[in-house]
Amino acid sequence: MPERRERGLNIRKLADFCSKTGIAFPTAEEYGGLSGFYDWGPRGSQLKKGVKDVWWSYFVERKEFVVGLDGSIVTHPRVWEASGHVDEFHDPVTRCSSCGRVYRADHLVEEVLGKNVEGIELEELNRVLRDVRCPACGGELEEASYFNLMFETEVGPYGGVKSYLRPETAQLIFVDFPRLYIANRKRMPFGVAQIGKAFRNEISPRNFLFRLREFEQMEIEFFFDPEDDSCPYYHEVADYEVLTLTVEDQEKGREGEVRKVSEVVADYPGREWMVYWIVESLRFFELVGVDMERIRIRQQLPEERAHYSADTWDVEFRFDDLGWKEIEGIAHRTDYDLKRHREFSGSEKYAVKREDGTPFIPWVIEPSWGVERTVLTILYSSYREDEKRTYLALKPWVAPVQVAVLPLVAKDGLPEKAREVAEVLRKHFRVEYDEKGSVGRRYRRQDEIGTPYAVTVDYQTLEDATVTVRERDTMEQVRVEIGELVSYLRERVTW
Ligand SMILES: [Zn+2]
Repeated sequence: MPERRERGLNIRKLADFCSKTGIAFPTAEEYGGLSGFYDWGPRGSQLKKGVKDVWWSYFVERKEFVVGLDGSIVTHPRVWEASGHVDEFHDPVTRCSSCGRVYRADHLVEEVLGKNVEGIELEELNRVLRDVRCPACGGELEEASYFNLMFETEVGPYGGVKSYLRPETAQLIFVDFPRLYIANRKRMPFGVAQIGKAFRNEISPRNFLFRLREFEQMEIEFFFDPEDDSCPYYHEVADYEVLTLTVEDQEKGREGEVRKVSEVVADYPGREWMVYWIVESLRFFELVGVDMERIRIRQQLPEERAHYSADTWDVEFRFDDLGWKEIEGIAHRTDYDLKRHREFSGSEKYAVKREDGTPFIPWVIEPSWGVERTVLTILYSSYREDEKRTYLALKPWVAPVQVAVLPLVAKDGLPEKAREVAEVLRKHFRVEYDEKGSVGRRYRRQDEIGTPYAVTVDYQTLEDATVTVRERDTMEQVRVEIGELVSYLRERVTW
C-alpha cells in the first residue's frame, strides 16, 4: 500500500492511535505507568481474543493430531533448572557509576559503537564496553554482569518454596509430556498447543507491544519419531512460495528471494514436518490479515540458534521504522527438552516405545508466536488513512465489532426498530448499537475500530423491512431484507 509508505506509519503513531481508540495503553497511567506492561481496553481485548480464537481453531480444532493444554504459570522450580533457564536465561546489564542509569550492555554497545555483540562472552563484552560511556551523562560504566530475566516468587508462607513465573509456555508441555502422551492415547506423531501468559523481566522493554515484561504466547510442541518422520500433508505445502533468506544469503550479503519453502529447508529428520509448520504458520498470518508483502522467513545463523537446535526459522515482518522484526520462530529442537526432563526428574516416562518395542525419545518441532506481536503486526498491516478518514481494514473474523447497528436518526421509532435488529444479530455476531451523533460520524467511529459492516435502519425499513448494509473498505451500501440479514452477514464474517 503506497499511501502508507508515504505516510511513514511508525510504532509511536500506532501506539498513540491504540491509546486513543482504547485498544491498548500503558497500565496504571494515572500512576505514571509501569515500563513493559500494557493493558488491553474494550477494543483491544476483543481483538486479541479474536486472534487467539482463530489460532486455536486453525491449529487445534481443525487438526486431528493437535490437542490443547492450559498449564500453570507458577511451576516447580526444578522445571526451570532442567530447561536451563536458571543458569542461562540472562542478559548482560551495566550501570553508570555517576548517574546510576541501567543499560542492557550488549544493546548499548550496538547503539553506541554499531557493533552486534549479542550472545558474546561476558569477558569479551566488558573489553568492548571500556570504549563506551553513559549516553546520558558521559559517566563511566560499571563492569557488566548477568541479570536473570525470570520473575521470582515464593510459594507458601514463612519463606516457602522459591519459584518463578514461567518465562515461556513451552516447558509446561515438555514437563507434562508423560500425561499428555497417555491422554492422547499414545498416538505419534502429535502436537500440543497452548496459549498463555509468560513473564520476562526485560532490562529495557521497548517499541510499544514489541518487547514486554508480561506477554502472551501461542505455542505448539510437535512430537515425532525421527525414524518415522514423513508428513502425510506434505503435498499441501510443498509448492508454497515466500520471500526467503537462508544462512547462505546472509553470509553473502544477499537480500534473499522468493522460493518454495520446501526448497530451503535442509534435509534432517522431520524435514517435511518443518516445511509443514512453516507454511501453516504463514497461512495463519495471511488468514488474520497480516500484509504478506512485508513477510519473509529467515533462517537463523548457527551462532544465533540454540546449540541443540537442528535448524530454526523466523517469520519476520518489515516495519517502515523498525525494519525486519521477528514475529514467530519455528525451531527444530531435536530430543533435547524431553531428554533434559528425563535426566532431571529421573523419570523414564519421557521415553516411549515403537510398535516393535524399541524405546526412543520423541523429537520436537516448535512453532512459537507472541500474541502481542501478532496483534501489533495485524494493526500495522490494516491501518489506513486518507483525507476523509482513518480506518482499520481488519478481517471480519478478528474485528472487535463485526456489525454496527445504527438508526438513521434517533427519533420516529427508528431507535426501537434498530435495537430489535441488533438483538437478533447479537446472537450470531459481535454487535454494537450506536445512535449518538450524525450517521456519518458514527460510520467514521466504526471505521476507526475496523468494524467491517454497518447496518442502518431508516424510514424505508419501517415500510418494507429492509436495511442498508455498508461495507467498510469500499463504503458501498446494499439493501438487504431483515429476514436475510443473518445469512448475508454470516457468509461474510466466517473464514
Ligand atoms: Zn550516567
